[in-house]
Amino acid sequence: MKPLSHARGKIPQSGIRKLQELSSQIPDAIHLEVGEPNANTPMPIIDAAYRAMQEGHTKYTSVPGYPSLRQAIRNDLEALYGLKPGLDEIVVTSGSVTALTASLLAIADAGDEVLIPDPAWPVYEMILMVQQCVPVRYALKAEEGFAPDFEDLEAKVTDRTKAIFINTPGNPTGAVFDEETVKRLMEFARKHDLYVISDEVYEAIIYEGRHVSPKSYDTDDRVISIFAVSKKYAMTGWRLGYMVASKAICASVSQIMITLVGNAPSMSQKAAEAAITGPQQFVDEMLLSYRERRDMTYELFMNNQVKAYKTEGAFYMLIDIADTGLTSDDFALALLQEEKVAVAPGSTFGNVSHEMIRVSLATEKEALREGVNRICRFIAQRR
Ligand code: PLP
Repeated sequence: MKPLSHARGKIPQSGIRKLQELSSQIPDAIHLEVGEPNANTPMPIIDAAYRAMQEGHTKYTSVPGYPSLRQAIRNDLEALYGLKPGLDEIVVTSGSVTALTASLLAIADAGDEVLIPDPAWPVYEMILMVQQCVPVRYALKAEEGFAPDFEDLEAKVTDRTKAIFINTPGNPTGAVFDEETVKRLMEFARKHDLYVISDEVYEAIIYEGRHVSPKSYDTDDRVISIFAVSKKYAMTGWRLGYMVASKAICASVSQIMITLVGNAPSMSQKAAEAAITGPQQFVDEMLLSYRERRDMTYELFMNNQVKAYKTEGAFYMLIDIADTGLTSDDFALALLQEEKVAVAPGSTFGNVSHEMIRVSLATEKEALREGVNRICRFIAQRR
């Protein structure tokens, strides 16, 4: 038998998935490694999808998505950020992951270098490796609230650099880039003629500041802004994301979508339309609930002299574990074995977070409290 693809064999395993698998074998483990809302999708959205299916929305749709959904997305982006994309500048995708993958395929060739944050969601690196691009990490400065290090960025650009990934609000950092930072990133992209793949899937989950979309400063069609209903409406399983970019990029992404998924699921598109056009009370309530959990978690760590980076957006908190002397992988494994708490090891996100772990705040409050207390106890025993 001939061997499997050489290139694909090099794709790194996500440390989060590894911990998920290990912890799934421990029935009473506390899950702080997961990256999805604990709430179920609101009933009105489920009802809308059910009705849509009964009405026959169980078939293929146009590749970039139902025009009615794209119109709803357009209206929403205008109301939220003043963006006014045409319907041919929006593509609905199967989760934001497909938008990220198809966008990269549309703009980059094998061997192209692409800048990704350090630390970053591990899937960026995986997507780049699947497509045989070269991931080059630029540092986010922990001591400055995980803002980009522009000196490092300048040092990492070469004549083969094609694009930069930006992620605000950030996973795993919880950082929200302010207007000045986004403007500087856009100047940097223009100066070096780079495409910008802007992952904005956590745009609705912000505790400090406001969401600034790089698309608002896109004077020459280099930004691909990617959104999703996954985190905002607790719809991770529906696999529904969307992207906004130039007509040319969207046309290319649509062609690529045909080879990946054909189109996003019709019933999920209808559910997303109901979510986006319906009452937004659920989003407000979830935000309030995440904020309470963020405050509680930060306070618990601080009271136990554990250094935590205060989350400004998204639902993750990075914790410094340097004084335990353990690597983040060893820490996560020992914590799971001894305290039955699963967390994501910082090493899976890059180098900057090597001596950190990531805790998800999207867990039920009492389980989160118990999990954080156990982490504090575990750290105290190793100091
Ligand atoms: N982008 C970031 C930064 C994420 O953390 C995630 C999920 O964890 C995604 C994208 C994927 O979202 P979706 O479910 O829409 O594919």
